[in-house]
Amino acid sequence: MKVYLLNSTPEPDNLVAAAARICYSDAAASDLLERESAALSARLLKELRLSGHHSPFEHVSFTFGVDGLSRTASHQLVRHRIASFSQQSQRYVKAGNADIVVPPSVMGNSEASELFAQQAESASEAYRKLLAIGIPAEDARFILPHGWETRLVMTMNARALHHFFNLRLCRRAQWEIRELARLMLVECRSVAPVIFETAGPFCLSGGCQESRPCGRPYDSMESLLAENDDLRPPLPS
Ligand SMILES: Cc1cc2nc3c(=O)[nH]c(=O)nc-3n(C[C@H](O)[C@H](O)[C@H](O)COP(=O)(O)OP(=O)(O)OC[C@H]3O[C@@H](n4cnc5c(N)ncnc54)[C@H](O)[C@@H]3O)c2cc1C
Repeated sequence: MKVYLLNSTPEPDNLVAAAARICYSDAAASDLLERESAALSARLLKELRLSGHHSPFEHVSFTFGVDGLSRTASHQLVRHRIASFSQQSQRYVKAGNADIVVPPSVMGNSEASELFAQQAESASEAYRKLLAIGIPAEDARFILPHGWETRLVMTMNARALHHFFNLRLCRRAQWEIRELARLMLVECRSVAPVIFETAGPFCLSGGCQESRPCGRPYDSMESLLAENDDLRPPLPS
């Protein structure tokens, strides 16, 4: 999977602070941004987070390009309604040969890998044959597995992203959307380090809210952001 930050609001940390500042300042809206500094913004953003005054975080948005995500994960992703999506069509774009995401649990098991590869190739071959005998792509796609790769562009504001990271970086979330969320957070922190300083699962910010905890809470932001994080499913409870 590849995740790219295609675009984002310029100076996001300062813009959120400037937007919040209008609530408490007699300055003209046009002057607020140039009065902000990194130090002032950081202090105000922390106060906003702690006080629950979250609406200023909606003024900045982040647009991501995602390649190589399975349709299993994209189906979960589009449940997030406070976001905008454009996804590659299976009606207009024909699927390539066995473009399928292989889960780590399958990759690490030779018997499962062999079975998985056989079935993926068989579905791919049936798809090609259906196209060859004149079945339209929008119908031939019914034979493709859930793991088939997709591409999409999505935009979320910082408040919606915080919510997304709370839910999808939790180890109870499914491994692929969790990996997507991790890569998105890395991108967000590169352009808005203060806004996303505390973003992440609840175990890192005040305590787990799951009725069935995973049993492996994160102990630091560094371990969360580390590459090759543990992608095993959560422990059964
Ligand atoms: C670990 C995990 C397991 C899951 N398992 C399942 C499952 O088995 N089956 C399943 O169907 N889904 C499942 N989901 C999906 C989940 O139920 C949500 O649909 C998804 O996480 C999106 O969350 P959201 O609605 O809070 O986000 P968003 O749609 O982005 O909404 C953000 C917030 O806006 C507010 N909001 C948005 N729309 C409305 C509205 N119409 N009315 C009132 N408030 C609104 C809510 O406060 C909401 O939290 C799972 C999610 C997770 C993280």
